[in-house]
Amino acid sequence: MSATYNDLSDKRILITGASRGIGKSIALGLAAQKAHIVFNYREGKIDQAKAICDELLSKGASSAEAIEFDITNFDQVKTAIDGYLENHGPITGLVNNAGISKNQLLMRLKESDLSQVIDTNLKSAIMLTQCLTRNFLKSGPVSIVNVSSVVGLMGNAGQVAYAASKAGLIGFTKSLAKELASKKIRANAICPGFISTDMTDELPEKTKEAYFEQIPTGRFGTPEEVSNLVNFLLSDTSSYITGEVIKIDGGLYI
Ligand code: NDP
Repeated sequence: MSATYNDLSDKRILITGASRGIGKSIALGLAAQKAHIVFNYREGKIDQAKAICDELLSKGASSAEAIEFDITNFDQVKTAIDGYLENHGPITGLVNNAGISKNQLLMRLKESDLSQVIDTNLKSAIMLTQCLTRNFLKSGPVSIVNVSSVVGLMGNAGQVAYAASKAGLIGFTKSLAKELASKKIRANAICPGFISTDMTDELPEKTKEAYFEQIPTGRFGTPEEVSNLVNFLLSDTSSYITGEVIKIDGGLYI
């Protein structure tokens, strides 16, 4: 079940990490709103990207385009975004979704893993948003949604790097909201709890069952439930909401 937001029709929205999981679901949710979807893909994955474009078009997207960049390669991001904006119309929605987790206790954390997690989950969102800001200033109203995590609010043993990156995204979101609100640019963060994707499928069955007991709704969320929230935040229906941090976690962190 999902609401329809007419202003999302034809709105050009860039989503990172739309190849699978939550990002793919957000792209499909926006396709159902007839949005114009742009997403990134990594080197060697063009066939998969083309198949996703076809799927989005078949689900109602007014257009679907894939551009190649690894979000941690900041030169590549800048070249790809500048090239896209020069040859296509403005982007007025952004979902910084791509992310990785590397679960290790602090004692075992390698510096290279820490850098990879921070670069992928935090630095990439800041750099990509920066690349798009001149375009945003010319084309408002704009809505940015940063996909943080409930772990960024509550912390989690074994996830120091991941939790720090997601908490950083919240600080980034609030600062961005304050800097750009007067220019009709909104920024909000969402904090999913456990959502069924490749990231959580890796968990052993026993661990999942232990988590179910801690979640008042007794289950993991679905990517579609996250996509419904993102649609709302991208739409002008939420025009007076900025700098907000919204949990979508079945009550895990009350
Ligand atoms: P998945 O592991 O299913 O998908 C991750 C996506 O990010 C893929 O599309 C992947 O692309 C992309 N990605 C990762 N690194 C890069 C990179 N360097 N350059 C380009 N793309 C990259 O993750 P989820 O869907 O589970 O998670 C999506 C977001 O939601 C993440 O930010 C995650 O932290 C957050 N989140 C997830 C929760 C969950 O329970 N699942 C809970 C809370 C937050 P590729 O296919 O090329 O690898």
